[in-house]
Amino acid sequence: MEVNGPIVRKYLKKFIAEPQKKIRLKNYDAGQVQNESLKDKSDEEVNEILKEVLKKDQSALFAAQDLLAASHKYGILIVLQGMDTAGKDGTIRHVMSGVNPQGCEVHSFKVPGAEDHAHDFLWRYEKVMPERGMIGIFNRSYYEDVLVVHVHPERMEELPEKIGPDAAGFWEGRYKDINAFEKHLVRNGTVILKFFLHISKDEQKRRLLDRLNHKEKYWKFSVSDVAERQYWDDYMDAYEEMLSATSTGYAPWFIVPADHKWMARTFVAEAVTSAIEGLSLSYPTFPDEQILHLTDAKKQLEEE
Ligand code: AMP
Ligand code: MG
Repeated sequence: MEVNGPIVRKYLKKFIAEPQKKIRLKNYDAGQVQNESLKDKSDEEVNEILKEVLKKDQSALFAAQDLLAASHKYGILIVLQGMDTAGKDGTIRHVMSGVNPQGCEVHSFKVPGAEDHAHDFLWRYEKVMPERGMIGIFNRSYYEDVLVVHVHPERMEELPEKIGPDAAGFWEGRYKDINAFEKHLVRNGTVILKFFLHISKDEQKRRLLDRLNHKEKYWKFSVSDVAERQYWDDYMDAYEEMLSATSTGYAPWFIVPADHKWMARTFVAEAVTSAIEGLSLSYPTFPDEQILHLTDAKKQLEEE
């Protein structure tokens, strides 16, 4: 049986990290926009134009999700990864504004607790995978288990030395586990869409300063964000290795230019819509006998 990845529109496909290719993030322009003509416009003008696009996206996404829920065949897993301030929360807010909240679940993964660490690293994610008909959004994911802990191995669960992060092939083992896990999910009817929101180091500085320059944004700021920024290059290495090892035909990574917030948001909304449309789903049909029952019910109501 073939294990196929999502079918998406051509322009979205261009952002897929080619499987089995070594990814170099410096070759990906974080400041890219969908439409070159937008480059000459001011930030405000671009935002206004893209807001209109987003409104259209929202109604298309709403229709796609309705079909996903009605047909009840596939679940959609959206994985969002990116450095602090990359726009994960804003993207979720925008995608969510286009869907029926009953058909969508967001899970934000923080530092794992003792119970999580007492299990294998995939345990806490597997528990909350989307059911058929549902969209599940992971704000951070099992990819943190090859990113933040790759940069800071001391933050990892304690493992026996023989099988821990110092053992040969440890990280390759984790990538293989992730690939096998995702293949299993896809084979069972989960469509996996993984988005790396790619921002530049300069843009992160701007966004962190913006949080510090506005009192109402203080809550978004964490002192550790500045500390983590010191490890920027290590994170980029970890991301490159992870993207190269885990972008597969059945669960590809999209490297999304995210220096322009609206670009990232419309990209994700369109990719999700496109992937659902690519499933060629249809509303359930009913046998004649059942239609008769429906007709009877209708008559009964009308004659009340
Ligand atoms: P935020 O997304 O800003 O709320 O921060 C969540 C924090 O949890 C980040 O600092 C992540 O690095 C951390 N985190 C998430 N998943 C893991 C994980 N599996 N192992 C260690 N730290 C994690
Ligand atoms: Mg944060």
